[in-house]
Amino acid sequence: MTNFQWRIEQDARDAALARGEEIAKLNRFSAGPVDPFRVIASEGGQIHAEGDDFRDCFDGRLSYHDGRFLLIYNIRYNAWSHSGTHHPKVRFTVAHELGHYYLDPHREFLVNRRKPIESFTEFESNKQVEREADAFAAGLLMPEYLVAPRINRQTQASTASIKQVAKEFDVSLTSMMVRWTQLSDFPCATLCIRNEHILRAESARLHSIVIKCMAFRFRFVIGTQRVDRFAFRLVNS
Ligand SMILES: [Zn+2]
Repeated sequence: MTNFQWRIEQDARDAALARGEEIAKLNRFSAGPVDPFRVIASEGGQIHAEGDDFRDCFDGRLSYHDGRFLLIYNIRYNAWSHSGTHHPKVRFTVAHELGHYYLDPHREFLVNRRKPIESFTEFESNKQVEREADAFAAGLLMPEYLVAPRINRQTQASTASIKQVAKEFDVSLTSMMVRWTQLSDFPCATLCIRNEHILRAESARLHSIVIKCMAFRFRFVIGTQRVDRFAFRLVNS
C-alpha cells in the first residue's frame, strides 16, 4: 500500500469515527454507557433488530428490504461473563452494524445492490468497509466528548484505571485501550502481540514517541483470541 492510499483509507476511518460521535451527540448521551439499541429506537422503525445465536457464522449482518433495514446480531458472546443486558462484544457488533446504516456509501451499497453486509467486528477484519464500521462503532460507544475528559484526569494510566473506564462505557478492554491511546493527551502506545507478531499498534496522536514496550508479560484473553503478550505503557517524554 502506498502512503497516499493509506492516507485515503485513514481519512475514511477518521470520518466514520466522527460520524459515530455525531450520532452519539444527536441522541444526547451525557454519560457512558452509550446504548446502541436506543439509537435504533430513535430511527422510528426504520431498523428492525433481531438477536440470535449464529455460532461462528458471523457477528452481525445488515440487509435492506422494502424500505427498511434488518439488523441481525449474534448473541453467542452473551454466554460469557458480562454485567449489562448484552456482552460488550454484542454491543460493539450492534454499533458496528449501525455504521453500515449511517455511513452513506455503505447504505447506498445495501440499498442499490440488495446484498447484505456480513460482519466480523471489533478489529477482526482487515477489509476497509469493516474497519470503517469498527471506527464508527468506536466513535459511537466511546465518543471523544464523553471519554476524553474521563481519561485525561490522570497522567499515568494503569490496567486498573483502563478497566474501570471500560466498565463505565460497557466496552471491551481491547476497545477501550485503543480508544484511550487515540484520545490521551499524554504520550502512550498500545501494542497487541501474539506469537511474536504485532497484531495491532496504536500511538497517541499528539506526540511522536519512542515505544518502550514489553512492560508487562502475561497471558491475556481478549474476545475469542488468546493474546500471548500484551504491552501497554505510558512513555514519559
Ligand atoms: Zn460489517
